[in-house]
Amino acid sequence: MQELRVFAQLHLKQRAYDHPAQDEGMGVIPLGYEPEAFERSVRAFADRYDVVEATRVSYRDTTRPILSVSSRTPDAARRLLVLSGVHGNEQAGIVCVPEILERYPDDGSVALRVLTPVNAIGAAELSRFNADGYDINRDFVRFRTEEARVVKRTLEEFRPDFVLSLHEGPQDAAFMFANRHVDIALAKRILAVLEAGGTTLATKDYFGLPLRPPGLSASSPVQRGILRAWAATLKMMAVNEYAAHRGIPEITLESSWRSTDRAARVRAHVDITLALRDELARRA
Ligand SMILES: [Zn+2]
Repeated sequence: MQELRVFAQLHLKQRAYDHPAQDEGMGVIPLGYEPEAFERSVRAFADRYDVVEATRVSYRDTTRPILSVSSRTPDAARRLLVLSGVHGNEQAGIVCVPEILERYPDDGSVALRVLTPVNAIGAAELSRFNADGYDINRDFVRFRTEEARVVKRTLEEFRPDFVLSLHEGPQDAAFMFANRHVDIALAKRILAVLEAGGTTLATKDYFGLPLRPPGLSASSPVQRGILRAWAATLKMMAVNEYAAHRGIPEITLESSWRSTDRAARVRAHVDITLALRDELARRA
């Protein structure tokens, strides 16, 4: 499929453009993200969460905040970091945030921090890339982008027990990458929650590789070898692998950006966040 070929080629370049290019030919269906309205809707949770600007990023004459939203849970036994919108045009992983904040249980057992949108310029420009055309999720070797540095600082300061990255891809249903620190039994329980909530799990990933069980791309020796080579030769690393180097379990959710079912795309992101919180609460 042409879309998959275009997408696969993106894995070979950290900086494909010099600006937040919109993706032609990858079949991404936008969900109506609007930056000012989104910012207002997140800031409206300031009565229940601490909402601050992790930083601001600029493009042309506009600057936009990367919001950092934290639960008020000083005695939490576990900490969950959610990275929303690392790729700006994967909108389900952004527009889900208000519902996550609304429904996140406030029993204090699992501290939540959400960075949203990590790629604030790309989100506003309907682009995968940041203002300078970088793919932020390839920048965890050199940290040339402010956005990747914000994620790094957050990992160092918040010290999450688990990282969840919310993404979308060109495949026809939802699946997740799990790094080598993710317990497979936990991953399977989360997939069961997604399925029970009505999420369709993909049987193939976006390279056409079979997923067994459906919905799960677990870390394997072959995959780790590829990631090592990718880092060594092309100096590229995603958050998933960077977290693994720091000993932190990380799941990357990929819903289908080709789906016209907005509710289904958003639901996968909300459900996985709440399911992961419940898993961490049980361990607390
Ligand atoms: Zn993505």
